Amino acid sequence: MKAINSMRLVFDSRSTNEAFARTTVAAFLCPLDPTMEELMDIKTAVSEAVTNAIVHGYRNTIGKVSISAALYEDNKIVIKIKDSGCGIEDVAKAREPLFTTAPSEERAGLGFALMESLMDKLRVSSKPGKGTTVTMERTIHSRESDHEHRH
Ligand code: ATP
Ligand code: MG
Repeated sequence: MKAINSMRLVFDSRSTNEAFARTTVAAFLCPLDPTMEELMDIKTAVSEAVTNAIVHGYRNTIGKVSISAALYEDNKIVIKIKDSGCGIEDVAKAREPLFTTAPSEERAGLGFALMESLMDKLRVSSKPGKGTTVTMERTIHSRESDHEHRH
C-alpha cells in the first residue's frame, strides 16, 4: 500500500531530544485532527520507544535514532522507531511485562506493555549488535468525522 503522506526524522540519542521527537510526531499527525486522547496515546508510545533506544540501545554512547511515520488510507498511521545500538537477545522475553535489564535504574519493565496497550499493533525486530526497530500502528478516528456522524 502506498503512503498518502510520510516523514522521517533523525536525531542524536540524547534524552533532551525525547520531547522534541514525540512533539514532532504529534505535529505531523495534527492535520488528521486526532482527539486529545489519541494524540496522548501516540506521544506516550513514541516516547517509550525513543527512551528505550536512548537508554538501552545506546547505553552510555551516543548514536542516531530515527523515526519514520507514514499515513495510509482510512487514517492508519504507521510509526517506526529505529536505533543501531546493542539490540535485544530475546525479543519475546523483553516484551513480557515487568521484564527489565535495568532494575537498578528504577525501570519498571513496562515500556513494551504500555506501547502494546496504547497502539493497535506493535512489532519489534532486533539483532544483537545491530540494533532494534519498533513498528507501531494506530488508526485515528478524526474528530471531524465524529462531528459529521452526529448531524
Ligand atoms: P520501563 O520502560 O518501564 O522504564 P524498561 O525500559 O526496562 O522499563 P521495556 O521498555 O518494556 O522496559 O523494555 C524491556 C527490556 O527490553 C529493557 O529492559 C531492555 O533490556 C530491552 N530493550 C528495549 N528496547 C531496547 C532497545 N531499543 N535496545 C536494546 N534493548 C532494548
Ligand atoms: Mg522502556
